Amino acid sequence: MTPDTPVDDARRPLVSGNWKMHHDHIEALHMVRDLGLRLKPDDVASVEVSIHPPFTDLRTVQTLVEGESIPVALGAQHCHDQDRGAFTGEVAPGMLARLGVRYVVVGHSERRQLFGMADEQVASTLRAVLRHGMVPILCVGETQEQRDAGGTEAVLAGQVRAALDGLPVDQIAGLVVAYEPIWAIGTGRAATAVDAEDAAVFVRALVAELAGEDAAASVRVQYGGSVNGENAAELVAEPDVDGLLVGGASLEAAGFLDVVRGVAGCYRS
Ligand code: PEP
Repeated sequence: MTPDTPVDDARRPLVSGNWKMHHDHIEALHMVRDLGLRLKPDDVASVEVSIHPPFTDLRTVQTLVEGESIPVALGAQHCHDQDRGAFTGEVAPGMLARLGVRYVVVGHSERRQLFGMADEQVASTLRAVLRHGMVPILCVGETQEQRDAGGTEAVLAGQVRAALDGLPVDQIAGLVVAYEPIWAIGTGRAATAVDAEDAAVFVRALVAELAGEDAAASVRVQYGGSVNGENAAELVAEPDVDGLLVGGASLEAAGFLDVVRGVAGCYRS
Protein backbone atom coordinates (compact mmCIF):
# COMPACT_ATOMS: atom_id res chain seq x y z
CA MET A 1 0.00 0.00 0.00
CA THR A 2 1.35 3.39 -0.83
CA PRO A 3 0.96 6.18 1.69
CA ASP A 4 -1.23 9.05 0.52
CA THR A 5 -3.39 6.73 -1.53
CA PRO A 6 -6.97 6.02 -0.47
CA VAL A 7 -7.10 3.21 2.03
CA ASP A 8 -8.69 -0.02 0.94
CA ASP A 9 -10.27 -1.49 4.06
CA ALA A 10 -8.86 -4.96 3.47
CA ARG A 11 -5.33 -3.57 3.77
CA ARG A 12 -5.97 -0.82 6.27
CA PRO A 13 -2.67 -0.48 8.14
CA LEU A 14 -2.75 -2.33 11.43
CA VAL A 15 -0.90 -1.02 14.48
CA SER A 16 -0.78 -3.68 17.20
CA GLY A 17 0.40 -3.22 20.77
CA ASN A 18 1.94 -6.33 22.29
CA TRP A 19 2.07 -5.77 26.02
CA LYS A 20 3.88 -9.05 26.69
CA MET A 21 3.85 -9.80 30.45
CA HIS A 22 3.14 -6.23 31.52
CA HIS A 23 0.11 -4.59 33.17
CA ASP A 24 -2.23 -6.47 35.49
CA HIS A 25 -5.94 -6.00 34.89
CA ILE A 26 -6.15 -2.83 37.00
CA GLU A 27 -3.21 -1.27 35.18
CA ALA A 28 -4.77 -2.39 31.91
CA LEU A 29 -7.97 -0.60 32.85
CA HIS A 30 -6.11 2.66 33.41
CA MET A 31 -4.05 2.35 30.25
CA VAL A 32 -6.98 1.57 27.97
CA ARG A 33 -9.16 4.26 29.51
CA ASP A 34 -6.33 6.75 28.95
CA LEU A 35 -5.92 5.55 25.37
CA GLY A 36 -9.66 5.86 24.78
CA LEU A 37 -9.64 9.47 26.01
CA ARG A 38 -6.73 10.39 23.75
CA LEU A 39 -7.73 8.58 20.53
CA LYS A 40 -9.50 10.92 18.12
CA PRO A 41 -11.66 9.83 15.16
CA ASP A 42 -8.93 11.04 12.79
CA ASP A 43 -6.40 8.70 14.40
CA VAL A 44 -8.42 5.65 13.48
CA ALA A 45 -10.09 6.84 10.27
CA SER A 46 -7.52 5.06 8.15
CA VAL A 47 -5.60 2.97 10.67
CA GLU A 48 -6.73 -0.07 12.61
CA VAL A 49 -5.42 -0.45 16.14
CA SER A 50 -5.25 -3.65 18.19
CA ILE A 51 -4.05 -4.19 21.73
CA HIS A 52 -2.75 -7.51 23.03
CA PRO A 53 -2.82 -7.61 26.83
CA PRO A 54 -1.99 -10.64 28.99
CA PHE A 55 -4.77 -13.26 29.16
CA THR A 56 -5.83 -12.20 32.66
CA ASP A 57 -6.65 -8.70 31.40
CA LEU A 58 -8.74 -9.67 28.40
CA ARG A 59 -12.15 -9.72 30.03
CA THR A 60 -11.56 -6.36 31.72
CA VAL A 61 -10.31 -4.77 28.52
CA GLN A 62 -13.15 -6.28 26.48
CA THR A 63 -15.74 -4.85 28.84
CA LEU A 64 -14.13 -1.41 28.79
CA VAL A 65 -13.62 -1.28 25.03
CA GLU A 66 -17.17 -2.41 24.30
CA GLY A 67 -18.78 -0.36 27.06
CA GLU A 68 -17.06 2.87 26.10
CA SER A 69 -16.85 2.21 22.34
CA ILE A 70 -13.09 2.63 22.29
CA PRO A 71 -12.03 2.09 18.67
CA VAL A 72 -9.45 -0.64 19.20
CA ALA A 73 -9.62 -4.33 18.37
CA LEU A 74 -8.90 -6.84 21.11
CA GLY A 75 -5.90 -9.07 20.55
CA ALA A 76 -4.14 -11.94 22.31
CA GLN A 77 -0.46 -12.85 22.38
CA HIS A 78 -0.70 -16.59 21.92
CA CYS A 79 -3.03 -19.58 22.33
CA HIS A 80 -2.95 -23.36 22.25
CA ASP A 81 -3.65 -25.23 19.03
CA GLN A 82 -6.24 -27.61 20.55
CA ASP A 83 -9.82 -26.68 21.36
CA ARG A 84 -9.84 -28.38 24.78
CA GLY A 85 -8.02 -30.97 26.82
CA ALA A 86 -5.52 -31.71 29.54
CA PHE A 87 -3.10 -28.86 28.78
CA THR A 88 -2.44 -27.30 32.15
CA GLY A 89 -1.78 -23.59 31.96
CA GLU A 90 -2.86 -23.18 28.37
CA VAL A 91 -5.65 -21.11 26.81
CA ALA A 92 -7.79 -22.46 23.97
CA PRO A 93 -8.52 -20.41 20.85
CA GLY A 94 -12.28 -20.72 21.38
CA MET A 95 -11.91 -19.07 24.77
CA LEU A 96 -10.35 -16.05 23.08
CA ALA A 97 -12.96 -15.93 20.34
CA ARG A 98 -15.67 -15.97 23.00
CA LEU A 99 -14.10 -12.84 24.52
CA GLY A 100 -14.31 -10.99 21.25
CA VAL A 101 -10.62 -11.33 20.44
CA ARG A 102 -10.00 -10.48 16.79
CA TYR A 103 -6.22 -10.84 16.37
CA VAL A 104 -3.90 -13.45 17.86
CA VAL A 105 -0.12 -13.19 17.66
CA VAL A 106 1.22 -16.56 16.53
CA GLY A 107 4.84 -17.65 16.75
CA HIS A 108 6.30 -14.53 18.37
CA SER A 109 10.07 -14.98 18.61
CA GLU A 110 9.81 -15.06 22.40
CA ARG A 111 7.44 -18.06 22.14
CA ARG A 112 9.78 -19.69 19.65
CA GLN A 113 13.00 -19.02 21.57
CA LEU A 114 11.92 -19.17 25.21
CA PHE A 115 9.10 -21.71 25.07
CA GLY A 116 10.27 -24.00 22.30
CA MET A 117 7.46 -23.21 19.88
CA ALA A 118 8.52 -25.06 16.75
CA ASP A 119 7.39 -24.32 13.20
CA GLU A 120 4.88 -27.23 13.34
CA GLN A 121 3.19 -25.77 16.38
CA VAL A 122 3.16 -22.33 14.80
CA ALA A 123 1.37 -23.85 11.80
CA SER A 124 -1.19 -25.72 13.90
CA THR A 125 -1.83 -22.69 16.12
CA LEU A 126 -2.35 -20.51 13.08
CA ARG A 127 -4.95 -22.97 11.81
CA ALA A 128 -6.63 -23.09 15.22
CA VAL A 129 -6.92 -19.31 15.28
CA LEU A 130 -8.48 -19.31 11.80
CA ARG A 131 -10.83 -22.14 12.75
CA HIS A 132 -12.28 -19.88 15.41
CA GLY A 133 -12.80 -16.95 13.09
CA MET A 134 -9.92 -14.84 14.39
CA VAL A 135 -7.01 -13.39 12.43
CA PRO A 136 -3.50 -14.66 13.11
CA ILE A 137 -0.57 -12.26 13.19
CA LEU A 138 2.18 -14.64 12.11
CA CYS A 139 5.58 -13.50 13.40
CA VAL A 140 8.71 -14.27 11.44
CA GLY A 141 12.24 -12.93 11.67
CA GLU A 142 15.91 -13.74 11.83
CA THR A 143 18.52 -13.54 14.59
CA GLN A 144 21.57 -11.31 14.34
CA GLU A 145 23.75 -14.35 13.62
CA GLN A 146 21.47 -15.50 10.81
CA ARG A 147 21.49 -12.01 9.35
CA ASP A 148 25.27 -11.71 9.59
CA ALA A 149 25.58 -15.02 7.77
CA GLY A 150 23.38 -13.72 4.96
CA GLY A 151 20.55 -16.06 5.96
CA THR A 152 17.66 -13.63 6.40
CA GLU A 153 15.72 -14.70 3.33
CA ALA A 154 16.24 -18.40 4.00
CA VAL A 155 14.91 -17.98 7.54
CA LEU A 156 11.89 -15.99 6.38
CA ALA A 157 11.16 -18.46 3.61
CA GLY A 158 11.38 -21.39 6.01
CA GLN A 159 9.11 -19.80 8.59
CA VAL A 160 6.51 -18.51 6.13
CA ARG A 161 6.36 -21.78 4.17
CA ALA A 162 6.16 -23.90 7.32
CA ALA A 163 3.25 -21.83 8.59
CA LEU A 164 1.25 -21.37 5.41
CA ASP A 165 2.00 -24.31 3.16
CA GLY A 166 -1.14 -26.29 2.45
CA LEU A 167 -3.49 -23.63 3.80
CA PRO A 168 -6.40 -22.87 1.43
CA VAL A 169 -5.99 -19.66 -0.54
CA ASP A 170 -9.09 -18.08 1.02
CA GLN A 171 -7.56 -18.54 4.47
CA ILE A 172 -4.24 -17.04 3.49
CA ALA A 173 -6.00 -14.00 2.07
CA GLY A 174 -6.46 -11.45 4.82
CA LEU A 175 -3.73 -12.81 7.09
CA VAL A 176 -1.29 -10.55 8.89
CA VAL A 177 2.42 -11.38 8.84
CA ALA A 178 4.74 -9.47 11.15
CA TYR A 179 8.37 -9.22 10.09
CA GLU A 180 10.18 -8.93 13.40
CA PRO A 181 13.96 -9.24 13.18
CA ILE A 182 14.94 -10.66 16.56
CA TRP A 183 17.94 -8.35 16.85
CA ALA A 184 15.57 -5.37 16.73
CA ILE A 185 13.12 -6.52 19.41
CA GLY A 186 13.52 -4.59 22.63
CA THR A 187 16.99 -3.39 21.69
CA GLY A 188 16.26 0.18 20.63
CA ARG A 189 17.84 -0.69 17.28
CA ALA A 190 15.03 -0.76 14.73
CA ALA A 191 15.58 -2.02 11.20
CA THR A 192 15.94 0.69 8.60
CA ALA A 193 12.86 1.43 6.56
CA VAL A 194 14.63 0.00 3.52
CA ASP A 195 15.41 -3.28 5.31
CA ALA A 196 11.83 -3.50 6.58
CA GLU A 197 10.55 -2.91 3.05
CA ASP A 198 12.89 -5.52 1.54
CA ALA A 199 11.69 -8.10 4.02
CA ALA A 200 8.03 -7.16 3.47
CA VAL A 201 8.43 -7.48 -0.31
CA PHE A 202 10.12 -10.83 0.15
CA VAL A 203 7.37 -12.11 2.47
CA ARG A 204 4.67 -10.96 0.06
CA ALA A 205 6.39 -12.70 -2.83
CA LEU A 206 6.47 -15.92 -0.80
CA VAL A 207 2.78 -15.61 -0.08
CA ALA A 208 2.16 -15.05 -3.79
CA GLU A 209 4.06 -18.25 -4.58
CA LEU A 210 1.89 -20.18 -2.13
CA ALA A 211 -1.49 -18.59 -2.74
CA GLY A 212 -1.33 -16.32 -5.77
CA GLU A 213 -1.05 -12.59 -6.32
CA ASP A 214 -4.54 -11.67 -5.13
CA ALA A 215 -4.08 -13.34 -1.76
CA ALA A 216 -0.62 -11.82 -1.42
CA ALA A 217 -2.00 -8.36 -2.14
CA SER A 218 -4.55 -8.77 0.65
CA VAL A 219 -2.02 -9.86 3.28
CA ARG A 220 -0.89 -7.09 5.61
CA VAL A 221 2.80 -7.19 6.44
CA GLN A 222 3.70 -5.44 9.66
CA TYR A 223 7.16 -4.48 10.81
CA GLY A 224 8.07 -4.97 14.48
CA GLY A 225 11.21 -4.23 16.50
CA SER A 226 11.94 -1.08 18.53
CA VAL A 227 9.18 0.92 16.89
CA ASN A 228 8.39 4.26 18.51
CA GLY A 229 6.72 7.56 17.73
CA GLU A 230 9.82 8.79 16.00
CA ASN A 231 10.38 5.99 13.49
CA ALA A 232 6.78 4.84 12.89
CA ALA A 233 6.00 7.17 9.98
CA GLU A 234 9.19 6.40 8.11
CA LEU A 235 8.63 2.65 8.41
CA VAL A 236 5.04 2.66 7.19
CA ALA A 237 5.86 5.10 4.41
CA GLU A 238 7.32 2.06 2.65
CA PRO A 239 4.80 0.67 0.16
CA ASP A 240 4.83 -2.91 1.45
CA VAL A 241 4.86 -2.17 5.17
CA ASP A 242 1.19 -2.23 6.14
CA GLY A 243 1.47 -1.60 9.84
CA LEU A 244 3.53 -2.10 12.95
CA LEU A 245 3.79 -4.56 15.82
CA VAL A 246 4.84 -2.57 18.85
CA GLY A 247 6.15 -3.86 22.17
CA GLY A 248 7.67 -1.40 24.65
CA ALA A 249 6.15 1.70 23.07
CA SER A 250 2.64 0.27 23.39
CA LEU A 251 2.62 0.12 27.18
CA GLU A 252 1.70 3.73 27.82
CA ALA A 253 -1.18 5.46 26.06
CA ALA A 254 0.78 8.59 25.07
CA GLY A 255 3.67 6.67 23.52
CA PHE A 256 1.38 4.26 21.71
CA LEU A 257 -0.69 7.13 20.38
CA ASP A 258 2.47 8.73 18.97
CA VAL A 259 3.01 5.54 16.97
CA VAL A 260 -0.62 5.42 15.80
CA ARG A 261 -0.47 9.08 14.78
CA GLY A 262 2.81 8.53 12.98
CA VAL A 263 1.08 5.87 10.88
CA ALA A 264 -2.19 7.81 10.47
CA GLY A 265 -0.23 10.80 9.19
CA CYS A 266 0.88 8.73 6.20
CA TYR A 267 -2.63 7.84 5.09
CA ARG A 268 -5.76 9.65 4.21
CA SER A 269 -9.16 7.98 4.43
C1 PEP B 1 7.49 -7.13 20.09
O1 PEP B 1 7.24 -7.43 21.24
O2 PEP B 1 7.01 -7.78 19.19
C2 PEP B 1 8.35 -5.98 19.83
C3 PEP B 1 8.54 -5.63 18.60
O3 PEP B 1 8.90 -5.33 20.92
P1 PEP B 1 9.63 -3.88 20.92
O4 PEP B 1 8.73 -2.95 20.16
O5 PEP B 1 9.75 -3.53 22.36
O6 PEP B 1 10.93 -4.04 20.24
